[in-house]
Amino acid sequence: MANNRQFYINGQWLNPVVANDFDVINPSNEEVCATISLGSQADTDAAVAAAKAAFPAWAAVPHAEKLSLLKKLLEEYNKRADDMAHAISLEMGAPIDLAKTSQVGAGSWHINNFITAFESFKFDRMLGDHAPNDRILMEPIGVCAMITPWNWPMNQVTLKCVPAIAVGCTMVLKPSEIAPLSSIVFTEIMDAVGFPDGVYNMVNGDGVGVGTQLSVHPDVDMVSFTGSTRAGTLITKAAADTVKRVSLELGGKGANIIFADADENAVKRGVLHCMQNSGQSCNAPSRMMVERSAYDAALKTAAEVANSVKLGPADKEGRHIGPVVSQLQYNKIQDLIKIGIDEGARLIAGGLGRPDGFNRGYFVRPTVFADVTNDMEIARQEIFGPVLSIIAFDTEEDALEMANDTVYGLTNYVQTQDHAKAKRCTRALRSGMVEINGTSRGAGAPFGGYKQSGSGREGGVWGIEDFLEVKSVSGWKE
Ligand code: NAD
Repeated sequence: MANNRQFYINGQWLNPVVANDFDVINPSNEEVCATISLGSQADTDAAVAAAKAAFPAWAAVPHAEKLSLLKKLLEEYNKRADDMAHAISLEMGAPIDLAKTSQVGAGSWHINNFITAFESFKFDRMLGDHAPNDRILMEPIGVCAMITPWNWPMNQVTLKCVPAIAVGCTMVLKPSEIAPLSSIVFTEIMDAVGFPDGVYNMVNGDGVGVGTQLSVHPDVDMVSFTGSTRAGTLITKAAADTVKRVSLELGGKGANIIFADADENAVKRGVLHCMQNSGQSCNAPSRMMVERSAYDAALKTAAEVANSVKLGPADKEGRHIGPVVSQLQYNKIQDLIKIGIDEGARLIAGGLGRPDGFNRGYFVRPTVFADVTNDMEIARQEIFGPVLSIIAFDTEEDALEMANDTVYGLTNYVQTQDHAKAKRCTRALRSGMVEINGTSRGAGAPFGGYKQSGSGREGGVWGIEDFLEVKSVSGWKE
């Protein structure tokens, strides 16, 4: 079992070169639940050097051998499911049942989907019948830095590390310093699988430290980042001098367009989806746009549903929502609720302060604002808490214009029984994903955004391609 203060470099758990303790806070009770180390330049350099040295041999390992290690990874991951769920629940406040099902489940789902995509992936391709001596070779990009957030920790870590390792890249993972415990469990899993030394490395640290050191490092070929648009911009600038590839999965402000002919569960589904994981999902449908003729009924339902959402500590079983992750996030959400009130939006559920019965923990009242206009701050900023803004619209054109009038473009949602209208809207929406009538995305579907929601695509075949270079060869003979 690893020491939380150690890093995993070149197949070994090592102490940090310079001690720099950092407390992990349990958001349910605000108490310290673990202490990790934040790495320094020397730790970053050691991890990158290990990954660089391991790259040529790992890239050359036959695909069949890599595939059998991926299958072993899935087995080891499933074996540690309970430990993983407890780590996630403790560090970021997801209720234990949600942690066991959705949070841990996201990881096994992605590993499984990558195995399927990898099995049929064509690394060597013909250009076409017109050019029989041309070959397109898809090759691993090299040393990757994986920088991940705290909100869906294993979702992000598996979306990055699994396809990269499958195609022959080597890597340094820097998980969120707010939620590092699940990545320590993940690293134990990677160790148990038995990848060659240096293929996978993990260094804890913060954004200004290890995050920036990795982004500027001359021996890192690619940064794969998930997190805020703010940090994504800084990483892109930091990576520019070494012209490394940067793949970004950033924030969102999803519109959920509910037409008057939507199914009867559409509003309820939208509210619950927005509140899930305490509102801390980049793809949360946080702007609910309702056709005017259905608006009053939608407000009534939305208030009832929000008022029925239960809250509770993360270690309690059940279908409640937990706290938000940190004091910083709690304060940011409170500030935005205050801004919404000051802007003149009408509070129909929740509001400022902790919910009744809670005097500790970062618990936020499930909050719904009505009569929001799309130019209000609460309709523009990603709040990242259980806060829904409801906006009325008159025509399909108005709804689409408002939905697209945002710097983000991650996931939008359309609710209508008229499928021709749903398809029209889907094509007009400027986002990487559109979900129609609550139908979830299939295995191996790509995840990613337009505009300031990011650049890459994760998951399935697209997630594999993200970590590949394309080599064009002429004069090839069989
Ligand atoms: P964050 O940007 O503060 O931190 C994310 C990671 O980046 C952490 O590991 C952090 O240490 C690191 N980091 C911060 N500043 C850095 C810098 N200057 N250089 C290098 N690394 C740096 O984000 P967060 O608060 O952990 O996560 C919430 C954000 O993540 C939200 O905006 C959310 O929408 C977004 N998110 C996006 C997706 C997606 O796939 N699009 C998925 C989950 C979360």
